[in-house]
Amino acid sequence: MKSSATMSPPNPTAPVFDIAIVGAGAVGLAFAAAIRREARLKVALIDAPRPAGDGRLRTVALSPGSQALLERVGAWSALADAAQPILDMAIYDGTTADAVRLELLHFAHPDGAPLAHMAYTSDVTAALDAAAEGVTRIAGAVTGFAAGPFVATLTLADGEEVRARLIVAADGARSKLRALADIATSGWPTGQAGIVATIAHERDHEGRAEQHFLPAGPFAMLPLKGRFSSIVWNERPEEAERLCAAPEAEFIAELERRFSPRLGALRRVGEARAFPLEFRFARSYVADRLALIGDAAHLVHPLAGQGLNLGLRDVATLAEVVVERLRLGLDPGAREPLAEYQRRRRFDALTSGLGMDAMNRLFSNDSAVLRSLRDLGLRVMDRAGPLKRALIAEAAGGGRGAPRLLKGLGV
Ligand SMILES: Cc1cc2nc3c(=O)[nH]c(=O)nc-3n(C[C@H](O)[C@H](O)[C@H](O)COP(=O)(O)OP(=O)(O)OC[C@H]3O[C@@H](n4cnc5c(N)ncnc54)[C@H](O)[C@@H]3O)c2cc1C
Repeated sequence: MKSSATMSPPNPTAPVFDIAIVGAGAVGLAFAAAIRREARLKVALIDAPRPAGDGRLRTVALSPGSQALLERVGAWSALADAAQPILDMAIYDGTTADAVRLELLHFAHPDGAPLAHMAYTSDVTAALDAAAEGVTRIAGAVTGFAAGPFVATLTLADGEEVRARLIVAADGARSKLRALADIATSGWPTGQAGIVATIAHERDHEGRAEQHFLPAGPFAMLPLKGRFSSIVWNERPEEAERLCAAPEAEFIAELERRFSPRLGALRRVGEARAFPLEFRFARSYVADRLALIGDAAHLVHPLAGQGLNLGLRDVATLAEVVVERLRLGLDPGAREPLAEYQRRRRFDALTSGLGMDAMNRLFSNDSAVLRSLRDLGLRVMDRAGPLKRALIAEAAGGGRGAPRLLKGLGV
């Protein structure tokens, strides 16, 4: 275990918590809410002061398993009215030059249940923030970490120290704790940036989501409440920057080349922003007295809208493992529970991430041979009822073997 080079000996008077969570994004907040509700523990939630967020720009698709977790931790009731159900989803493959693009694959739940819910990320974090009430909040950036035999010590930028039996790193893709614990990552840039914007349209979307696989990368139009949709539009990074800076009329003209005229006239609401896309995963999800969750552990391509959903699976699994230990009066930061968390999560997140990366590579090109092969594959899949049902169940995230919180059960 490596500690910060700037660390002085731990201060024995620093407060000791059972668990200190670093990072109050959706994943850190969800873990705080899950732990607060399931066990009466001393929990600290530490977050670095940051500039005003993206406001109503970033959105997420929440799987039924994630919805069950949000219900269980008491956050769903505050979010339900703002979340738009996705009732069906159509997948297309083609180029921007095609006069008509054929629908190759269509998903809808046989009983009409939503496939997922779309929500603004800021609404999700606000609902989780309220559900995590009672957790001690500490404002400050973590700059140091040292694991000891009984507790780990965090140092904040102002020199304050916080001690806890278990540190949970939910500090995002550029995780400082991951670096302080000397955990290496593997991965690669995808060579794409995801343009994100909210689009107003003339006609109702009727809860339908569309994903168009185009040579530069996937383009998704995802329904929001009212006559609004969220786009996640992948391009080469320089083209993405150019499009975000272009006048609105040019942006919309380019958008119309990618999307069917189904929704009538389109208008952009607010700015468009491009996020560089990377595939990256931590070589280890744990170190002495430390567990990584969310983007700190894995960064996946957004084409299947699974990044936060995977992070909430980490939350559900770690909460289950830790609460079980604490109920038995055992140390939540000991080696065995951390090894169990890693065993249950690392392979699942890695295979999901690699699957999304492979799909992105298979579709993001203009090869006629690959296109005919993948289109054949999608058509076969569209006609294979059991396979489609299995895919819907897999994306839902609450099936057999899933942690209890994703089934809406207590830990
Ligand atoms: C274009 C795009 C579209 C996406 N669409 C979807 C989707 O449809 N569905 C889906 O499930 N996911 C989606 N995702 C992924 C999803 O947005 C992320 O997986 C998720 O937001 C990660 O949450 P997090 O809490 O792990 O990290 P973050 O949201 O990055 O939070 C990290 C927190 O840690 C804090 N922090 C950082 N360093 C420190 C420090 N040193 N000390 C203290 N605090 C610190 C930060 O202030 C921040 O609050 C998408 C991503 C992109 C880029």
